[in-house]
Amino acid sequence: MPEETSILLRLRGRVQGVGFRPVVFRLAHELGLRGWVRNDPAGAEVALGGPLGAVARFRADLPGRLPAAADIQSVEERPAPGDLPAGFEIRLSAGADGARVAGILPDLATCPDCLREILDPTDRRYRYPFANCTHCGPRFSILEALPYDRAHTTMKAFRMCPACEAEYRDPRNRRFHAQPNACPVCGPQLTWTDARGAALAARDDALRAAADALKNGQIVAVKGIGGFHLMADARDAAAVRRLRERKQRDEKPFALLFPSRDAVAEACDLSEAEAAWLESPAAPIVLLRKRAGRRGLAEAVAPGLPWIGAMLPYTPLHHLLMRDLGFPVVATSGNRTDEPICTDNDEAQARLGSIADFFLRHDRPIVRPMDDSVMAVCEGGPVWMRRGRGMAPCTLPLPGVPDGWLAAGAQMKSTVAVTAGGNAVMSSHIGDLDHEGAVRLWRRTVDDLAGLHGLDVVRAVADFHPDYASTRGAAALPVPVESVLHHHAHIAACMAENGLDGPVLGIAWDGTGMGDDGTVWGGEFLAGTRADSRRVAWLRPFPLAGGDAAAREPRRSALGVLREMGSAHPPPGCSPAELAVLDGMLRSGLNVVRTSSAGRLFDAAASLLGVCQVMSHEGQAAMRLEALAGEDEAEPYPFGWIGDALDWAPMIAAMLAGGETPARVAARFHATLVEMMAAVARRTGLADVCLSGGCFQNRRLLAGALRRLAADGFRVWRHREIPPNDAGIALGQLAAAAARRGVAGLAIGGADMIECPP
Ligand code: ZN
Ligand code: ZN
Ligand code: FE
Repeated sequence: MPEETSILLRLRGRVQGVGFRPVVFRLAHELGLRGWVRNDPAGAEVALGGPLGAVARFRADLPGRLPAAADIQSVEERPAPGDLPAGFEIRLSAGADGARVAGILPDLATCPDCLREILDPTDRRYRYPFANCTHCGPRFSILEALPYDRAHTTMKAFRMCPACEAEYRDPRNRRFHAQPNACPVCGPQLTWTDARGAALAARDDALRAAADALKNGQIVAVKGIGGFHLMADARDAAAVRRLRERKQRDEKPFALLFPSRDAVAEACDLSEAEAAWLESPAAPIVLLRKRAGRRGLAEAVAPGLPWIGAMLPYTPLHHLLMRDLGFPVVATSGNRTDEPICTDNDEAQARLGSIADFFLRHDRPIVRPMDDSVMAVCEGGPVWMRRGRGMAPCTLPLPGVPDGWLAAGAQMKSTVAVTAGGNAVMSSHIGDLDHEGAVRLWRRTVDDLAGLHGLDVVRAVADFHPDYASTRGAAALPVPVESVLHHHAHIAACMAENGLDGPVLGIAWDGTGMGDDGTVWGGEFLAGTRADSRRVAWLRPFPLAGGDAAAREPRRSALGVLREMGSAHPPPGCSPAELAVLDGMLRSGLNVVRTSSAGRLFDAAASLLGVCQVMSHEGQAAMRLEALAGEDEAEPYPFGWIGDALDWAPMIAAMLAGGETPARVAARFHATLVEMMAAVARRTGLADVCLSGGCFQNRRLLAGALRRLAADGFRVWRHREIPPNDAGIALGQLAAAAARRGVAGLAIGGADMIECPP
């Protein structure tokens, strides 16, 4: 008789709602183990009894058997409590005491099994747009309350038919406890309406009508997982142009939905890592380089840029539609530019009726708007621009942090975060809080995150800038508020994500953020810990005429740079009259700010090279400069020091000297900035360097910094889980506030993500 043991495993991480319990059930049965598995508020518990060898085998085999969307962060083992049953069973969830975090999952792209079924004419879900199982389907977008079961989702309105009910109750079925389980008999259905909302077709006829309309160059609003998309044939220049006009979106690139991976590879260069992300359960938009000489996509999709944002179908609805079409479509958020995405049928009717020719909608309500996630791959790792559908909420462990802290985030690319059960839970992308709709969504998101977790907010952490809508929103709460400097929050976020306590050198480069001296920072080098840092170097400040307008007009940055270096050279893109006004402002100092912003230095370079004088959307000038620079190696220009300020004047002078192609100048500009970072790192002498801030969305800059600093012997840390831009500020605010209170061991490294295959 082999030696018997009984243990209890407490698993933390993404284990609920992803088909974890059936996997445990099957493995335990195969190994002849007794016991049970159940969800608890923070994860799952598995009680096991049987021969020592079989129990060890279970522990060894479990990781390899996990469903694709599951991710175990930690396992705690203790003796099993009480008697175990004679067999192995799946038990109901433990009570809802304690912090509720484990049940909140991102929406997951259609799994291969469900895809096979909807394409199989003999399957009862053939061409059913809402098929799902425990491995895939909507989660966060339909979740009203915890624990995650059907009665707490918008699927509660649909009563399962006997066939679905039987699947739901069978532990051997992959739809066991699949909360959104549905079929053509009992589940949500499609409706096809005209722009005024009159129903024209239903069910499969609606789907086919949508495909026909898109083939005919029409603009169709399609309700998906996190809201409505506006779709149009991406090859049809007139359709794309009409969509731009109606959406009032001049030049900002549109994302494209492709029918297949092969179709993506035909249009773009596609590495294995990029393909893995495209096909991952998160199914984000991936920025890819257009293939040289490739025709077929309308230029108006991404005017003047060498990249396009590509994604693959991630719901049965999108799979079926794209198979019927066979060509890529624009799939852009259903909104007017800068407003939050539409989720509700009536609201979409009202807001999109003047943009879309037709609506393909369905009757499964969406609880919260979720834009598509956006990322790129750089040096083998992800660079997130936006975490939304498929990636939100993002739960990162912050052991020891009390419940109920709220991080208000920043102003642009706003996200918020709360602490719950020793975690930071980060919201989905909210948007830029310059718009009333986004501010309303900010408030709703705060209530939503706190409400879902059953929390009362007890403390708020906000940006040092008093006029951010997020700072004002935090100040309106009846709780103490503390502030964290914008650029320190960037670096604290990068440290927290990488499990560093410091000291580090943080390179925080972005467009704008308020410094502790009240001036506009953005090209900062900070040395310190998560709790606090000191500014050790910065880019030489220059004057910007005209406040907010300067951030939209690279020519104003160019003028400021030229005048700061004593040059009377006229900047490009200004009429003599405009120049006289701007020069007058600079001389008088009225409505002029000084900034050390790296983002504005990029703008200045873009203007001087003639690639962008007035931006139609944020980051446009820097994107064009990055595009112009291409990927070839380039020598840095000279630069100097003025005290602790890095002087870019020698670089600008060399750029203006002429004799080189604009592409070469752009490449050398990037190389010079990288060289500046290396110079500060050597001068500061700290072994660890953290890169954060929106400038590190620029892959040429990020790759250059990673390679150059590593070659000099530094350990270089980048973001992989959260965006380097202001969407990461909320995490940094929590990490800094926790560190100030001596909350120890905030190791986050490698947490939470739906890992994609290498
Ligand atoms: Zn599935
Ligand atoms: Zn059914
Ligand atoms: Fe920033």
